[in-house]
Amino acid sequence: MKKILFIPLLLLLIVIISVFISNSVNNKTNANHNNIINNNDDHNDDKDTVLKVVIDPGHGGKDKGATGASGKYEKDFTLSLSKKVEELLEQESGIQVFMTRTDDSFISQESRYRPKYANKLDADLFISIHGNTFSDPDVSGTETYYYHKNSRLFAKFLQKHVVEATGFRDRGTTKKDLFVVRDTKMPAALIEVGYLTNPQEESKMLTDDIQSRVANSIVEGIKEYKERSEKQGILEWIF
Ligand SMILES: [Zn+2]
Repeated sequence: MKKILFIPLLLLLIVIISVFISNSVNNKTNANHNNIINNNDDHNDDKDTVLKVVIDPGHGGKDKGATGASGKYEKDFTLSLSKKVEELLEQESGIQVFMTRTDDSFISQESRYRPKYANKLDADLFISIHGNTFSDPDVSGTETYYYHKNSRLFAKFLQKHVVEATGFRDRGTTKKDLFVVRDTKMPAALIEVGYLTNPQEESKMLTDDIQSRVANSIVEGIKEYKERSEKQGILEWIF
């Protein structure tokens, strides 16, 4: 090869390798990011890429979940907040929202219905919404659980936005073996918005104001994750 050609080619190679390396580093926490972009088979146009999001209001029916400091049940809090998230996501173009329950139905844990529902839909993201509980009423804070590595980044984005909305103590993200996040194939997270057994947190969590803010923050988390994945998708396509 002529020297005059070799130098620009070498420079180009260095640029490609450095972009590839920085992309790989970003991908470390998001190994399965390709799953997020769900191409609708009927439309090959990029504009028709729809993100299927499953919202899972925790508990329901005879499964009341935690009993809050005031005696109110977690199942009602989770449904109320989830419906607000659903309403906001319905307004987002490029996002399709699905709910595991829309009323006070009981869903047995043994049936594994919640993750099965999301897997059958071939959903891109799964979010289970809960309120936490502990024997000590002073324990407080927002926490997000995930299980698989491909969910870690998604959980971090959600946690960051939800903590901003609640203003509660940031308990961070934790890997936890919970079937809803373990048996789901797509990036999945379970948000414990706050402690219903903590009287101050419960009274805030039951207000329309904080629920609207938290719902909004969950949508922000989804959108941030979506944008990040789309950028990575483009880089993957180039290289
Ligand atoms: Zn719960």
